[in-house]
Amino acid sequence: MALSPKLGPEQAAANMADIAPRFTPQEALIEANRCLFCFDAPCIQACPTGIDIPSFIQKIATGNPTGSARTILSANILGASCARVCPTSVLCEGACVVLDREGKAVQIGRLQRYATDHVYDNKIQVLKPAAKKSGKKIAVLGGGPAGLGCAAELAQLGHDVTIFEKKPQGGGLNTYGIAYYKMPPQVSLAEVELVKSLGVQFKYGVEVGKDVQIADLEKQFDAIFVGLGLGRGHQMNIPGENLPEVVQALDFIETLHTAPLHKVAVGARVAVIGGGNTAIDAVTQAKRLGAEKAMLIYRRTEAEMSAYDFEQELAKRDGCEFVLNAAPVEVVADCNGHVAGLKLARTKVVNGKAEIIPGQEWVEPVDMIIKAIGEPKQVELLKRLFPKLELDKRGAIVYDKQTGATNIAKVFAGGDCANGGREVVNAVGEGKKAARGIHAMFANQKVVGPIQDSRLGVKTAPVGSGLDNPIRVPELEKQYEAAGH
Ligand code: SF4
Repeated sequence: MALSPKLGPEQAAANMADIAPRFTPQEALIEANRCLFCFDAPCIQACPTGIDIPSFIQKIATGNPTGSARTILSANILGASCARVCPTSVLCEGACVVLDREGKAVQIGRLQRYATDHVYDNKIQVLKPAAKKSGKKIAVLGGGPAGLGCAAELAQLGHDVTIFEKKPQGGGLNTYGIAYYKMPPQVSLAEVELVKSLGVQFKYGVEVGKDVQIADLEKQFDAIFVGLGLGRGHQMNIPGENLPEVVQALDFIETLHTAPLHKVAVGARVAVIGGGNTAIDAVTQAKRLGAEKAMLIYRRTEAEMSAYDFEQELAKRDGCEFVLNAAPVEVVADCNGHVAGLKLARTKVVNGKAEIIPGQEWVEPVDMIIKAIGEPKQVELLKRLFPKLELDKRGAIVYDKQTGATNIAKVFAGGDCANGGREVVNAVGEGKKAARGIHAMFANQKVVGPIQDSRLGVKTAPVGSGLDNPIRVPELEKQYEAAGH
């Protein structure tokens, strides 16, 4: 049977409402005062964008949410979305010293959201375009988190930046691929507007290699940043996979961001294939959109799932079922060519590999199947765009972790197409590092690092300490000051 919407507007909106509502001013004040304002704060070191966390919390504690947001956004232009989608329990909050003392970390993510919501809601501009222009032009390929992180940093350093984006809107996965109850697309789109306000140009609906050629960009721009992300969904390679109710998880999630929630079609019995965070996002949203039964099918044990524990718990709380040690072997069709079931086979792990146990098969009656088994690297596209670009064995771009430099002069990279697929905050941090690498190249400056965000006067970390923080270009500090940061 064809898929259909299951809920009315009110119920759909209620089911997709924010799972971590914002703090009230009173709650924010109380929470901010739990912070010890540590000197060598481990929470900063755990943040891939090096936000000065004690500083922004202190500003909340002293009734200055605007200053707090300035601290956040000058280090991480996507501070509002990261406040919602970062796995804080394994990053800043996982490193918080209060966690050991009291068993509960300072809620850094929610405080960050409190401060950034304050400036977005009240339309307070806390970042300024650069006062002086350098005359240098940079093309940014891809308007997702890495591209935005790179573009915002370059623009604040006085460079002209143009982002080329295939989709009709910017933000990448933040706009199109995050579970709705974690973050609606409006948050990401407001961040795109913030980047625009810094002077960055966006060219939407432009596919690089088709609508615009790299050779032309190389002539028109002084540097290129590649932030093209990953491709669209691996295949299961089983019979029946092409039936109309078998969809990719990111395509399914995108429908929630591009159509009214109560018009999103979903099955009555949904099977989601995969064990990662995207699989959890898909199965919980299917359930919240009114599926009677939403199952997550994973070929290994629960302990081996790559989804974070808190994500797994959320899915269980929502009533999703986990079918473990099971692999899909065939999509079963009804006589009209629609999905009627999914044949599964029991698996066991042999020498680290999940293998099918012969003779142990069964059919789960389902009418929708969502594939969440990862996204492929864009090897073919990257090779077509940059035939000499060095890729690693996985198909990811080989790049300098501190500067974003690739083996091709004036071509830099960051985000999922280079790191293979990490968190939003990693992509923003890499975009920012590459921006500093590009700027240093223009100025023939040597890039040193890593350190915390030098604009904020944070103590430096030892060079070579391995901290995943933005690089330092000492000569830039004066320019940041001149730009008013
Ligand atoms: S580690 Fe925790 S207590 Fe210390 S500064 Fe960071 S948030 Fe505050």
